[in-house]
Amino acid sequence: MIALNPSKIIGVGRNYRAHAAELGNPMPPEPILFLKPPSSLLTDGETIRLPALSSRVEMESEIGVVILERVRDISPEAAEKVPLGITCVNDVTARDLQKADGQWSRAKGFDTFCPAGPLVAVGLDWRELEVIGRLNGAEVQRARSSDMAFPIPFIISHISRVMTLMPGDLIATGTPAGTAALATGDVVEVEIPGVGVLRNPVG
Ligand code: ZN
Repeated sequence: MIALNPSKIIGVGRNYRAHAAELGNPMPPEPILFLKPPSSLLTDGETIRLPALSSRVEMESEIGVVILERVRDISPEAAEKVPLGITCVNDVTARDLQKADGQWSRAKGFDTFCPAGPLVAVGLDWRELEVIGRLNGAEVQRARSSDMAFPIPFIISHISRVMTLMPGDLIATGTPAGTAALATGDVVEVEIPGVGVLRNPVG
């Protein structure tokens, strides 16, 4: 079993056209990158804590990519051969602070804002992944990896030209449309068929 112990968590903003449109944002010409601190990680079953500083916290169901070997400055073609693990990620975001700050460190960096897991699956085809988000049992998000504006090898290449990816590093590859606000008492799930279900209560 692969433990989630990333030196860094890299997020991708606006990788699905429908989600960019629902927030009124244009699609960028290149992937927008941001970092979440490893201190925001949360395991399956633990509680997402709503911070007092925000009045609108949303779920973001995402396909998580776990890098399994050191990667630096590679092409998208070479990135297709990088060994990967796939896991469920919830890129929890304080939407009001994201808009207010103009950059995303605070909005995406609170403790408990990166539920991930429960397992890391290897040997899957990055072209054939699906992610489903549920809030209190009701489906609110569903998309396939083929819906991404920037495919997974392109993202890995793009990041590797900026920073060395280390074994265990986690990439949150962007969220599809349907992100929903969270309230105390909710239960939020991110499922990737063939990988598992990540389930966290909200407190
Ligand atoms: Zn996200």
